[in-house]
Amino acid sequence: MPKNRITEDEEELSLPQTRERILVVEDEEDIQELIRYNLNREGYTVDCAGSGEEALKTAIKKTPDLILLDLMLPGMDGMEVCRKLKYEPATRGICVVMLTAKGEEADIVTGLEMGADDYITKPFSPKILIARIRSILRRKNKNAVETDEDQENKPIEAQGIMIHPGRHEVLVSGKPLDLSFSEFKILYFLAKRPGWVYTRYQIVDAIRGEEYAVTERAVDVQIVGLRKKLGKLGKLIETVRGVGYRFKE
Ligand code: CA
Repeated sequence: MPKNRITEDEEELSLPQTRERILVVEDEEDIQELIRYNLNREGYTVDCAGSGEEALKTAIKKTPDLILLDLMLPGMDGMEVCRKLKYEPATRGICVVMLTAKGEEADIVTGLEMGADDYITKPFSPKILIARIRSILRRKNKNAVETDEDQENKPIEAQGIMIHPGRHEVLVSGKPLDLSFSEFKILYFLAKRPGWVYTRYQIVDAIRGEEYAVTERAVDVQIVGLRKKLGKLGKLIETVRGVGYRFKE
């Protein structure tokens, strides 16, 4: 072996830690450039695409960690791109964050149900954008680790609430809380991924028992009951206006 060959270990030590790769899908050049500049400055590797078709090609070629996806694109729109990304096994695992205009709650709901992981509302400041991306990637990485360890049915502790899925038990400051079956399921579902927004439909889908139907309206009712029972901690279950609910990060 040549003497000056850098071993993999040394390489890891000597190089600054490379950050994640992000694909920016945006047809408006100034916005694309602004995002690229700010992400580059944070150390992310950035690819850009100006159309949906280009986005799909780049996603397969570069396998980014995260795709910032504008919904309003010429030709194939962002929603269609998202659907295709989540359908394709090679790109399904990539985190998709939609860029939406204010007031487009219906789009946000559709996008989340189509498999987008999160959304950012335009206009946004670069600072907010970076903070959100960091938090989304952190959540994504954390979740990947937990999935590896088979998080199914693992007890979780979140902000003083202890949830034992196996025992169907919730403890707040060590005291058991008397929750209904659906309330328990909703709490566990949301608390498993703090910070992630879920639409009512996604919640229905997650908690649906085999024998009885839960409606989206019923989810609202359950949430009201759940918050009441949680008392002061009820505020941990946040309403995201026009979109759904999330457990506070
Ligand atoms: Ca656009």
